[in-house]
Amino acid sequence: MTINWDAAIELTCPHCGHKFKKSLAWIKQNPVFGCPENCGFRFQAEEFCAGIEEAHDKLVSAAAEAFTGAIVDINLKIEP
Ligand SMILES: [Zn+2]
Repeated sequence: MTINWDAAIELTCPHCGHKFKKSLAWIKQNPVFGCPENCGFRFQAEEFCAGIEEAHDKLVSAAAEAFTGAIVDINLKIEP
């Protein structure tokens, strides 16, 4: 299995409700990032990235839940 690192996921800031999209590749490079609205919330995606690297549907959804505090609408394409 390979992962489409260009796939975007939609994130909702749990603090201000701002919605935005980031690619998996971007998140992998920036696992900790502030809300783009500068509301002060910080997304922490280290566990999310670790889960993605397991390249497994189940683990990806578990990883999304581990995306600290964020509501993640994941649109992942994992290619065989
Ligand atoms: Zn925010």
